[in-house]
Amino acid sequence: MTPGVRPLIAGNWKMHGTLAEALALAGAVQAGAAGLAAELLVCPPFLHVAAVAGRMAGGPVAVGGQDCHAAAKGAHTGNVSAPMLRDAGASHVILGHSERRADHGETDAQVRAKAVAAMAAGLVPLVCVGETEAERLAGQAEAVVGRQLAGSLPDGFAGVVAYEPVWAIGTGRVPTEADIAAIHAAIRAALVARFAGGGAMRILYGGSMKPGNAAAILALPNVDGGLVGGASLVADDFLAIARAAG
Ligand code: PEP
Repeated sequence: MTPGVRPLIAGNWKMHGTLAEALALAGAVQAGAAGLAAELLVCPPFLHVAAVAGRMAGGPVAVGGQDCHAAAKGAHTGNVSAPMLRDAGASHVILGHSERRADHGETDAQVRAKAVAAMAAGLVPLVCVGETEAERLAGQAEAVVGRQLAGSLPDGFAGVVAYEPVWAIGTGRVPTEADIAAIHAAIRAALVARFAGGGAMRILYGGSMKPGNAAAILALPNVDGGLVGGASLVADDFLAIARAAG
């Protein structure tokens, strides 16, 4: 944790759930969210954002999208813009997730443009960075993350950074605590060097975070919360992770 920074536990629901399932999950998360030290965020598929935001309205759980286009509107079939997400009730948007970078070839420059669009629309961008297993084995993790940060965060960035080693996502494998702490310290140094508010910017860890490992990870310096995939689809697990944040 970073002293004075309220932790954020964000759930990335990815491409899961019918509308009924999304609303049931939202209701269960909301029911257990009162009084937590951590801020909670859930990011449903685009199609369910408005309904989940309606279900969460007036409560402590924020709602986000999983991506947005860099343009506010236009001829971009199949895409969703940041103002549309805002209009649907979202307050945050995940950008540059490794699955977007891999499945859609998203570059740092595109992620940066999306972050600019998100901030212009009043959304908090949650920008993901992280190395592949080959890059870690080659001793390049810190360099890769540094390059992604430099390229993906626009000047004036005001948002959240998530460190998500690609090889830890959905695999049950997690870096050592020392490795997480080292990368988070490097991210903190980069944020402090570049942004006036860099010392208090949240840096989340993501990658196979579960109720059983969350407390140890969240206790590390400069780990200000978690971006949770699989475990966020089970309300009890997501809430247990949130409680582990303090
Ligand atoms: C993610 O996709 O952002 C993620 C962290 O997934 P998981 O928790 O399932 O590893």
